[in-house]
Amino acid sequence: MKYPRLVELLSKPENYDSVLVRGWVRTFRANRFIALNDGSTIENLQCVVDFKNTDEKILKKINTGAAIEVSGKLIKSMGKGQSQEVLVEKIEIIGEADPDLYPIQPKKHSFEFLREKAHLRVRTATFSAVMRIRSVLSFAIHQFFQDKGFYYIHTPIITGSDAEGAGEMFRVSVLDPQKPPIDADGSVDFKQDFFGKETNLTVSGQLEAETYALGLGNVYTFGPTFRAENSNTSRHLAEFWMIEPEMAFYDLDDNMDLAEEFIKNILTYVMEKCEKDLIFLDQRLENEDKTKPLIQRSPMRLIQKIKFVIENEFKRVSYSEAIDILKNSKQNKKKKFKYLIQEWGTDLQSEHERYLVEKHFNAPVILYDYPAKIKAFYMRMNEDQKTVRAMDILFPGIGEIVGGSQREERLVFLKKRIQELGIDDEELWWYLDLRRFGSTPHSGFGLGFERLVLFATGMSNIRDVIPYPRTPQNASF
Ligand code: ATP
Ligand code: MN
Repeated sequence: MKYPRLVELLSKPENYDSVLVRGWVRTFRANRFIALNDGSTIENLQCVVDFKNTDEKILKKINTGAAIEVSGKLIKSMGKGQSQEVLVEKIEIIGEADPDLYPIQPKKHSFEFLREKAHLRVRTATFSAVMRIRSVLSFAIHQFFQDKGFYYIHTPIITGSDAEGAGEMFRVSVLDPQKPPIDADGSVDFKQDFFGKETNLTVSGQLEAETYALGLGNVYTFGPTFRAENSNTSRHLAEFWMIEPEMAFYDLDDNMDLAEEFIKNILTYVMEKCEKDLIFLDQRLENEDKTKPLIQRSPMRLIQKIKFVIENEFKRVSYSEAIDILKNSKQNKKKKFKYLIQEWGTDLQSEHERYLVEKHFNAPVILYDYPAKIKAFYMRMNEDQKTVRAMDILFPGIGEIVGGSQREERLVFLKKRIQELGIDDEELWWYLDLRRFGSTPHSGFGLGFERLVLFATGMSNIRDVIPYPRTPQNASF
């Protein structure tokens, strides 16, 4: 007898005759049909119980959520909905689940409800599919970069520089909040803290990644990042995972080419590897859509949308062109935007980004050459002295998914920007050293992993694509 997992068994049933399987009961119907799932695939295995010859006490314990072991003959199923089934010869209850207490019942639960049961929600079809796709996407990301000769680097999670995220960082401290040491000026004396200075959780590994790109050539990070921004949206988490490649000798065009190739490559991989999960999620989205008013329904189904991104060229549009388009749009003229576009230089809100992608271009869009004023200090200044070599990739239904730039490699320009923004340049001595010794044009970008998972799964809230979301007022589990 063999002990396969369901994914193996259901893909090569001809290899099995008698089987022993273990998993959790999804449903038990008519005292006869168990839908068993072991998490390895979206598909359940139907196990047919001979209830006349099964102990009443055992039958009572075959409840949704219970862990069981079943052995029997694998045969072709006559019933609808599955090709194989097991004629149960022996059944053992490994772990009971009291139906009066187990919260995940075979009925439709709202995602809000399931967030409160985040430790059990992965036992539902939707969440197991999302988390399998999340895993496959992670692997695809490493494979893409490793195949291209990029090196994976681990940038620090606790950081001593606050140049990037002033104001939205989480402090790391071991000082007693009740009675912290006070210095001569009456402020908290962080010299007495664990690291002898103020430290925070990182908002990005970019600055450190740049130092490694200027030694290893092409590198990438893939790690957790933290932002204490109080934006309670469906696209922001306080703790999220980011992929940040950084490439020496790349200009902005090379950077855009890489980002586009990267996204298409990993989505293609997931289409190949997660076909069944995607078909399930596609159907789920379709059903959810049907409950919405016509105007809110999505014009494309999930798989169609993924294919659309893989098959179409991303439209590359300068910020200035985008502002013209937005300013002259009906939406703007009829004051339908919450934030009206009045002049060049304003930052784009997600409603504008989505208008460009979903209404105007009907394609993923790469916006580039943003006003320096609304972008970070390290982006390379253009000849016009007004715009910088930034690029954001905007996706349907999501808005910004990637933010990147060509970095300022000229010491004089970089120092000028740092001064203008009032950033403490002593903190950045090591970053400035890169511009002093062997400086070279280089570029990189950051892809928010959960936004990508949102896109690939058709889920609508970022809290539902990470196992345990961290958001304002919520750090349960
Ligand atoms: P946004 O304008 O959407 O807040 P941002 O400009 O702050 O994004 P960057 O600093 O450029 O984003 O970060 C790079 C990428 O990280 C973004 O393109 C996005 O995919 C992702 N990202 C940023 N903030 C968050 C967050 N709070 N939660 C999840 N992903 C995020
Ligand atoms: Mn942000």
